[in-house]
Amino acid sequence: MKDHFGREINYMRISITDKCNLRCKYCMPEGIELVPMTDLLTFEEIVKVCEQAVKVGIKNIKITGGEPLVRRDAPKLIGMINSISGIESVSMTTNGVLLKQFLPDLKRNGLKSINISLDTMDPTLYQKLTGKDAFTQVMDSIFAALDAGLRVKLNTVLLQGYNENEWGKLVDFARRNPVAIRFIEIMPIGQGKVFSGISNQELIDCLKRRYPEMKRNPAPLGNGPAIYYSIPGFQGDVGFISALHGKFCDQCNRIRMSAQGELKPCLCYGKSIDLRDILRHKEEIELENALRQAIAEKPQAHCFERQDEITEEKKMISIGG
Ligand code: SAM
Ligand code: SF4
Repeated sequence: MKDHFGREINYMRISITDKCNLRCKYCMPEGIELVPMTDLLTFEEIVKVCEQAVKVGIKNIKITGGEPLVRRDAPKLIGMINSISGIESVSMTTNGVLLKQFLPDLKRNGLKSINISLDTMDPTLYQKLTGKDAFTQVMDSIFAALDAGLRVKLNTVLLQGYNENEWGKLVDFARRNPVAIRFIEIMPIGQGKVFSGISNQELIDCLKRRYPEMKRNPAPLGNGPAIYYSIPGFQGDVGFISALHGKFCDQCNRIRMSAQGELKPCLCYGKSIDLRDILRHKEEIELENALRQAIAEKPQAHCFERQDEITEEKKMISIGG
């Protein structure tokens, strides 16, 4: 379905938990309150939402969190959503810590591609950024995912004063391996307000100096706003998600749902529709109506550049990115 601004909305990010086994500095504040399990949507409820979402044109689903794999039966949900007629792709974004052990089950349930967050190639810095000595586990997961034949995209957020110099080693990883490394500009949501990031345009300029033959790919890879470049001699690609400095709201194709069933038209604004209440107390038709309403109420653009106008107060860990 198209929104008021003519954008085709065909993609939904679904968070399945607020919990995480890491504490990334820019995402997870100290002392976040955990939501009781009974407040989270069950997998059956999530499937009901997806069945209605298909009716309004959603074809692609991304499972996120918190860390989706701390909900240990997450692979089963991938299979349940994959079997809904009209769904074309279900993928997941994970920190990769637990991924390796789940890969056989994820594959069996039809997972074809995965996004793994990786902000550094340095194990000590990894621990400093995430609070956990888990770099080796994540690297093992990345290689296991490639061996399993999954399409692998790595997501990196660069923070001034922490990992801003890591881009060279991360880009080199895409030279040696068939992965897409994507640099995401930090967004001023939750803890993201506390840190300064690096502009992707600056990064592209640095990369062009190092790799003068790099070329922008004409076709997008996947369902998102990333712009990709290829570099001769590289097995993988380098992508940029420039939410701040390359505002791409005119191409926005998505809505989001939190683990508690709050349906969000836009990342920047606090407005949401309570699908859990509808699922637990109202008629099924109300679900489809609510999805149509969320799409109809999508604003034209975010206001990240005017922080006093941002009304979303939730943390990224509760929204799912
Ligand atoms: N735990 C999973 C992971 O780390 O991939 C899924 C949830 S996490 C919230 C999803 C993505 O959001 C991660 O790639 C993370 O780097 C990104 N993220 C978190 N906070 C952000 C912020 N303030 N700005 C931009 N990206 C952010
Ligand atoms: Fe957890 Fe992902 Fe947030 Fe890091 S970015 S704290 S792994 S939810």
